[in-house]
Amino acid sequence: MTESPVVVIGAGPVGLAAAAHLDGRNIPAIVLESGTVAGAAVKQWAHIRLFSPWSELIDPQAAKILAQHGWSEPPNEHYPTGGEWARDYLQPLADALGVVRYEHTVVGVSRRGRDLVVDAGREHEPFTIHISSPDGEHRIVARAVIDASGTWHGANPLGGDGLPAVGEHAHAARIAYRVPDLTDAEMRSRYAGKHVVVAGTGASAQTALIGLSRLAREVPSTRVSWLVRRSSPGAAFGGGEQDELPERGALGARAQAAVTDGPVTTITGFRTSTIEADGERLRLVSFDDSVVDGVDEVVALTGFRPDLSILSEVRLDLDPVLQAPRTLAPLIDPNVHSCGTVYPHGAKELAHPEPGFYLAGMKSYGRATSFLALTGFEQVRSVVAEIAGDHEAAARVELTLPETGVCGGSGDFDDATGGGGCCVPAATSTVGFIDVGTLSRHR
Ligand SMILES: Cc1cc2nc3c(=O)[nH]c(=O)nc-3n(C[C@H](O)[C@H](O)[C@H](O)COP(=O)(O)OP(=O)(O)OC[C@H]3O[C@@H](n4cnc5c(N)ncnc54)[C@H](O)[C@@H]3O)c2cc1C
Repeated sequence: MTESPVVVIGAGPVGLAAAAHLDGRNIPAIVLESGTVAGAAVKQWAHIRLFSPWSELIDPQAAKILAQHGWSEPPNEHYPTGGEWARDYLQPLADALGVVRYEHTVVGVSRRGRDLVVDAGREHEPFTIHISSPDGEHRIVARAVIDASGTWHGANPLGGDGLPAVGEHAHAARIAYRVPDLTDAEMRSRYAGKHVVVAGTGASAQTALIGLSRLAREVPSTRVSWLVRRSSPGAAFGGGEQDELPERGALGARAQAAVTDGPVTTITGFRTSTIEADGERLRLVSFDDSVVDGVDEVVALTGFRPDLSILSEVRLDLDPVLQAPRTLAPLIDPNVHSCGTVYPHGAKELAHPEPGFYLAGMKSYGRATSFLALTGFEQVRSVVAEIAGDHEAAARVELTLPETGVCGGSGDFDDATGGGGCCVPAATSTVGFIDVGTLSRHR
């Protein structure tokens, strides 16, 4: 009988790297991708330039496979956009691997014939993967599963308590959960001359602030308000020149300049409770009844969360706070430290009570956002070695991660889950801001 394949969920950077490592060990693999192309999530932020250079965005095993297919490696020191990452690396890799099934959305993972509760014979059964595709529903079996389906589709709501604010659904047409592409004429006219509120403090929010403040200089009737949940933007702008990823440091410095010298009004201590109509506009009300009114558009960039619903029949051991594997969580918890303290990790930290099941990539970080592609490449190198029975290689660490230059541990983490970026906490910045106490009160 032929051995069932390892199933990888998601043809993003980490899922494809997993498939490359499986290929390198001659382990049959199938990659199931809900989108129509490789890097379907990355393509949705095609206009954003990464803060990592090409040298940190290509898995070494993937590069070996691509080299055999006449791929010309992009220049190491260049910083691609999401669109270039997908076009020049992810799609060629998927094509070279030839194991990706597009428009195959995984809707459930289980043990064959065993629900979550059943012990009997569980360890002898393969996994069953339930799939929805244009041809209908399918089920395939797998000897192991690597869930690298990311968190892109799980944007956090604006509501300060983690649930949609009252009115968030009703006013959805004026709320965006993605960084606007202001080079697009339609998008530009949506925001030009408007009062735009940006919520969140991570790299995505900072990218949005930089773009919108530029727009406000070009179209001076544009107003930008920046909502920050905690009492100070703190170290949201990162380690600047101390950051070992210079472009990540530079992004923070540009955002800080936009906020300090630019047309951005910073409103701290604002946790959104309600969004309501304010004539033709919107009014945002916080949990302590502060108000931001006259709002035309909201850009909510308050982080992402993993979709665990497809894993309801898999025995997971997740940290109750971060929704990341329990052993991994203390290494990435933005409540207690910065990215710089995250050390490379692999199969051991990513293991669950369900043998052969692993979360990898962005999804393995749960609600923490300090994830770097490099980390994911190391994760799947180790996980695939473990699946292959090569425990020595699985335990080996083959990566040094760049430091952020931000020293963490403030315990003041709030909405560092800004999406796509690195974690923040620590020191107080010199940026001027409006404390929520100075805003008008509701009612
Ligand atoms: C704007 C932004 C900028 C970033 N910049 C950097 C950077 O400069 N450097 C860096 O190292 N990292 C960066 N990151 C972080 C990280 O490296 C990327 O998010 C990366 O894309 C994560 O890869 P992934 O494979 O884990 O997930 P994803 O890229 O999200 O890929 C997951 C894939 O799974 C698919 N999928 C989802 N659900 C299902 C399902 N149920 N069934 C089948 N398929 C499914 C999706 O369509 C997607 O193709 C950035 C992230 C963002 C959002």
